[in-house]
Amino acid sequence: MIRESASRPSAPLTTRLDDIVQSLGAASNLDHALQGIVKSVRDLFRVDICLLYLSDPARLDVQQLMAWEGLGDHAAPPAFADTLANLVAERSEPVNLRDSKTLPAHQDATSHVYLGVPIMHLGALLGVLIVQQTAQSQFSEYEQASLATLAAQIAGGIQLAKARSSINARVSGDMPAAPFFEGVIGAPGIAAGTAHVIYARSELAQIPNRDVTDIDSEIAVFQAAVSRVAGELDRIAEEQGGMLTAEDRTLFRAYAMIARSDELVTSTLAGIRNGNWAPGALRDSIQEHARYFEAMEDPYFRERADDIRDIGRALLNELQTLQPIDEHYPARTILVGEDLSPLDLAAVKGTRLVAVISGHGSRLSHLAILARSMGIPAVMGLADTLPLTNLHGKSLIVDGYKGRLYIEPDVSLKRQYRSLAARERRLSKRLRHLRDQTAQTPDGFRIPLYTNAGLLSDLNPSLAAGSEGIGLYRTEYPFMVRDSFPTEEEQYTLYRKVLQTFHPRPVTLRTLDIGGDKPLAYFPVQETNPFLGWRGIRISLDHPEMFLTQIRAMLRASSGLNNLSLLLPMISRVEDLDEGLILIRRAYQQLEQEGLSITRPLLGAMIEVPSAVYQAEALARRVDFLSVGTNDLIQYLLAVDRNNERVARWFDALHPAVIQALLRIIRAGRRNGTPVSVCGEAAGDPAVALLLVGMGVSSLSLSAGDLPRIKWAIHSFSRQRARTLLRQSLKLEQASAIRSLLTQALVDAGLDALVHPGNLD
Ligand code: PEP
Ligand code: MG
Repeated sequence: MIRESASRPSAPLTTRLDDIVQSLGAASNLDHALQGIVKSVRDLFRVDICLLYLSDPARLDVQQLMAWEGLGDHAAPPAFADTLANLVAERSEPVNLRDSKTLPAHQDATSHVYLGVPIMHLGALLGVLIVQQTAQSQFSEYEQASLATLAAQIAGGIQLAKARSSINARVSGDMPAAPFFEGVIGAPGIAAGTAHVIYARSELAQIPNRDVTDIDSEIAVFQAAVSRVAGELDRIAEEQGGMLTAEDRTLFRAYAMIARSDELVTSTLAGIRNGNWAPGALRDSIQEHARYFEAMEDPYFRERADDIRDIGRALLNELQTLQPIDEHYPARTILVGEDLSPLDLAAVKGTRLVAVISGHGSRLSHLAILARSMGIPAVMGLADTLPLTNLHGKSLIVDGYKGRLYIEPDVSLKRQYRSLAARERRLSKRLRHLRDQTAQTPDGFRIPLYTNAGLLSDLNPSLAAGSEGIGLYRTEYPFMVRDSFPTEEEQYTLYRKVLQTFHPRPVTLRTLDIGGDKPLAYFPVQETNPFLGWRGIRISLDHPEMFLTQIRAMLRASSGLNNLSLLLPMISRVEDLDEGLILIRRAYQQLEQEGLSITRPLLGAMIEVPSAVYQAEALARRVDFLSVGTNDLIQYLLAVDRNNERVARWFDALHPAVIQALLRIIRAGRRNGTPVSVCGEAAGDPAVALLLVGMGVSSLSLSAGDLPRIKWAIHSFSRQRARTLLRQSLKLEQASAIRSLLTQALVDAGLDALVHPGNLD
């Protein structure tokens, strides 16, 4: 490309880099993947030598040479290379040298130039890429930038290839200890079980590998699918009197030829003979062929890759018709998927579901919130770290405390897991005696503990945890599982059941909070930034007919029970609240005119947008209670997408700005005599709960699974002590310092089980 002149490469660099990244995904194992990289880099950069090092997992300061190109017969790398690799690793930045004399311990003057760049993945050093060239002048800045760009692009592919190879090594017994992979903590707990991968049926790339025993019948099904698809394409091509032009016919004929082509069929059959089911073998074969075309210079041939993928989808469809998949969930199912939805969890009946692994999301995603309320561990955001489709049928241990996943654990790891699980059970048993006690500090400060519900989970976990009521009932899901808005009657039936189940305990029904990450298939909203878009109360106010239907259903459901509170989400200005309250009043009057006698419910506003924090007092004057939604409030205050695993570590409820905001809201409520509840997930964090007690919060609403532990914390700390901790926290400028302070306080009070719950190390 690039070398020895300021000229830029002929094909756009991004295209060439894309090709390298694509071929990395197609490589059959790690060695091939790395070898492919060094070869492509040497060609692209027109250098003499290219070397690829990976960090030694045991000693991160040592780089191991894994692949090389251009060393000729003497397969040993130049002496300086290891030193340079370690230097790049140590600095975590590119090193561009004119000769090796500049390197410590290397005095062999040459006319070589060297460039080394780190390969970083999700903030960690994965390895180092080095190129060497015989020349007098250093690599240019452009070359350095290009190599650094390439390193950034291949990092994800290398990580996945590494993960795939260690899973295979573990399965074949070549790796003694179970590898573990770190994601984002979703929901706490530890569970062992068998992976069951859920995937989008029509997405070829998501098809998991599955072992087959009856290879002959799998081959027969595949051949039948090929003959049906190719036959159908032939039929279309030959059809007379239709709309097709001669060109179209030629295209369909070509499609039929590709579908039954030797290359495609033979490589798929080879995959099946290796023990993979037909859809998995087809996926590999289609991807390999599509990449082959994509790598071509000629744009006409490059576009043929799309045809191959189309044919792959048609074959996949046919396979699924011929052999419908009967999802058989193992006895201890660990559900795995790129983007699981709460509906996927609901599909696993009974007590089979023991844990969840999601490719994307964080602990604030509704999937994780649901897992927490079901009391099962969840690890999120593993899609960039691990090829999830390879996990199907594997034995796993999910450590939701640390966000770790162990693959094919050995006996001793399983033993450790069992002893931890036993410890957890002992703790739960110990906390069970608190179930029927109210939550109160030793110096008499009473804090009602309610639970959050509505994400498809039934109300049993809340009842079992000794909840004093429902502090937040999310009404979105009944809307999401239908294909049109539920009728007033359907909503009435649902809300009535919730109110009755908890009667006489209070139940707070939140009005519809769709938009953001909760879209309705039958009410599509296209927005570039849905979290800052049309969501919650904004949609309700623009669709008063929908809003009034929901309010009428809620009010009717409370008739005779009188335990209803109504909560309005996403309030960002007083006008929205005023308008919402007017509509509620109108629905109430309508029902009165219809002859129904309903006790007026308590009305509340959610504080989950920064503007509402600054207007908390004005809002408090208008309602009976405020409820702080920390999930969204933190997202908006700290500018951290609550569903994005990449920024999960920036989402911190102990950020000083969050603490200041919470204090401000609670003070505003107190000044106005309006109770303030906290219903976001932060209320289930013992450290945050202590601060909230110190602030004088009126009540907390939590995931059922968090309730016993938070009650224990409240029983263990006087209000006085909590106030002192709050004062100390307010002086600190970093969340980590505040976390340390509160963790130490919990440990000193004998609650270490709350801060160091599980440890498999
Ligand atoms: C919140 O935002 O904190 C909240 C409780 O609501 P949701 O998680 O449903 O957005
Ligand atoms: Mg919210």
